[in-house]
Parts: sequence; C-alpha cells; structure tokens
Amino acid sequence: MSDQKDTILVINSGSSSLKFMLFKMSTETMVVKGLVERIGTPQANLVYQRPGFDKLEQPIQADDHGQALDKVCATLCDPGVGVLKSLSEVDAVGHRVLHCGEYYSDSVAVDENVKKVIRDCFELGPLHNPANLQGILACEKALPGVMNVAVIDTAFHQTMPKYAYLYALPKKFYDEYKIRKYGFHGTSHKFVTYATAEYLGKPKDELNAVICHLGNGSSISAIKNGKVLDTSMGLTPLAGLVMGTRCGDLDPAVVLTMARKGYSIDEIDKIMNKQSGLLAINGVNSSDMRDTEAAAKAGNPDAQNALDMFAHRIAFYIGGYFTLVGGPDAIVFTGGIGENSVNSRKIICERLKALGVELDEERNQQRGKACVISSDSSKVKCIVMPTNEELMIARDTYRIFQGK
Ligand code: ADP
Repeated sequence: MSDQKDTILVINSGSSSLKFMLFKMSTETMVVKGLVERIGTPQANLVYQRPGFDKLEQPIQADDHGQALDKVCATLCDPGVGVLKSLSEVDAVGHRVLHCGEYYSDSVAVDENVKKVIRDCFELGPLHNPANLQGILACEKALPGVMNVAVIDTAFHQTMPKYAYLYALPKKFYDEYKIRKYGFHGTSHKFVTYATAEYLGKPKDELNAVICHLGNGSSISAIKNGKVLDTSMGLTPLAGLVMGTRCGDLDPAVVLTMARKGYSIDEIDKIMNKQSGLLAINGVNSSDMRDTEAAAKAGNPDAQNALDMFAHRIAFYIGGYFTLVGGPDAIVFTGGIGENSVNSRKIICERLKALGVELDEERNQQRGKACVISSDSSKVKCIVMPTNEELMIARDTYRIFQGK
C-alpha cells in the first residue's frame, strides 16, 4: 500500500458479528471487506473478500469481539492474502455507532467521554450500543494509538426542531427519560443527501429533498436546506413505515390492548420488531420484498395487500414531507428496495399523482445506479441514489483524522 496517510478501517460491530471494510481514501477505493459471524459460538466464521479475488471463508475461534478482530487484523497482514505489511498502516478506524442520544450531531473522535456517552445510551440502543462499544474497545487493544471515530446513526437527525422531535407527552418523559424522536439510518440519509446535491448540481445546504431509504428496515427523511427537518423513525427504529419484520406506526393504544390481552412487554416487543411487517401480512411467511412481489404476481391477495400497505404508508409520508420542505428538488429512492424494486417505485409514485409526480416507465427499469426515473414533464424529479454507509463512515473518519 502507498505511504499516503489515508488508510481507513471501517468497523460495524453487531451483537454476534463484526463487519469490516478497508479503504484508501485518496481514491476512495475499497481494498478489502469481510465479516466475522456467529461470534461467541463454536461456529464462528471469517469471510474475507478482495475485489477481483475469490471469497475466502474459514471457521475461526472467536469467543468475543476482541478475538474476532485479532483474526481480522492477522488476515489483513497475512503474507498470502493480506493487503497490509503491518497494522501500523491503518491510520484511523471508523465505527458505526447506533445511538448517542442528544450528545453528538456529528461524528466524533473517540475518547473516554465518548465511550461514556455510548455506555449511557445502552438503554436507548440495547441491542447495538453494547456491541458497538465492544468493537471500539477491541480496536483500542489491537491497534494502540490509532484514532477511533464514532460515526453515529442518530447524529444527522439532530437538526430536527423541537416541534418535530418532541412527543406530546407530559414533559417529564422527555426531561427525565429523554423520550423523544431520534431517527435512525442517519449515515445513509447523510450520504444520500450529499450525493443527491452533487448529482443535481446544488450546494448541499440548499437541497430540499424527501429521502426514502427502503430496505429490510426503512425510513424517510424530510431534508430542508441539506438538514433533517423530520424523519419517520422515532425513539427506536420501530416507528414509521411497514418494514420487513417491523410494524411501523400504530395507534399507541394497540400496545395497551395487547398488554391487557395478557401479552408481556417482551412478547409485544418481539411481535412488533421481529414478527410483523411484510413477514406478518404477505401470506408467504417471508420478510423479503422479492418474495412478496413474486407471490403478488402469482395472484396471492395477501401479498398484493402487503405491497399496497407498504406503498400507501410511504406515499402518506412523502406527501407530508413534500409539504414540510416546501416542495423538494427531488424524491429520492435508496436502500435494497429503493434501488432495485421497479415495482415498489411504480406503486409508490402512482399514489403521488396529486403532487404532479409522473414516472417514466422505461427510466424506472434501471436498477442499482444513480438515475432519474421521472418523466421530463413530472413536476418533481424522482431519482434513484445508491447509498453507501461504509463509505460515509470512512469519509467522516478520514475528515476527522485530518483534523477537519
Ligand atoms: P438492510 O436494511 O438489511 O440493509 P437492504 O437495504 O439490503 O436491507 O434491502 C433488503 C431488501 O431489498 C429485501 O427486502 C430485498 O427483497 C429487497 N430487494 C433487493 N433486490 C431487490 C429487487 N431486485 N427487487 C425487489 N426487491 C429487492
């Protein structure tokens, strides 16, 4: 690798997995990527892939994230398959961190205080924050002296005004428990906002847009002058759209009714987060959009209804956010579904005719690349913009490493 100080390792540490990507940032090239899965089980496995080379997969011993990272580091420096002469070539490490409450509105170099904030937010992100912290601690040990940067999923949404983020509950629930809307997928919304501004040739702080990140988890953001004005996820990533396994918005009294029917809090949590959404309603017991579309095409009425519920909720949010941003420069589709599902974009845009949205059927056949999909006579541009959260993490890390 070159002598330039631009080698950034990106780490996304989950409860039983550790994903990594290595970038050379002067050219924004991804050098290698991979993951360790099933950490803490006898089936732990390392997957390692360099662009243009065969994917390597091998069982490893990884009782915890520290061992997993040690194995990743050893592989990165392996004389055969490695890409580094030594670990000292890594200039900084960027970590995906789910939740930092109201503490940070930008990515931040990790110090004792940042680690304390991540810890203090365990309650707000109980599944992700502990794993994110473990990833940071493992890097501090394996790469002593190397800067770690926390790239926080809630940070980009911190620009929401109080009237957008506050719930209309008694004040103490915000004051004492910090119950409010935080929003998630911030790293993706940020990447796509900036990429859209560039694509449209607008300064990013002048961009108005409605960004639809549609994947297994889905969220929509209203972007006003390049900043988040509102977003569909809330205190947790459960709010908003109909997702793969999450129900999204409900009358809160549904939860009370379920509790009164005898369901425990943990059961309701599991039902709403893991057993709802497309999985619950499409009649084919799958959380996947492709399966839902195939079943609907084959005439399954439940699958068709699931597609309609999915599109109806999205169109509802787009209509609201369209108004709030004062008319967007573009409605943007991203995420696995937004980038690839021709049918989803079609049935969403069909519901937006009152806004003057007109899709071009032929342009809408394109998948997985930045493109305009609306017709020339459409009153608002609809575009596809592939997201790249890892690159966003690497960019923020490189910026902070350079002291910018
Ligand atoms: P995650 O939230 O896990 O990152 P992704 O952004 O990868 O999810 O999106 C996964 C979703 O994208 C799945 O529902 C999958 O069916 C859908 N998807 C991927 N490719 C297509 C396609 N060609 N047509 C329709 N849906 C697709």
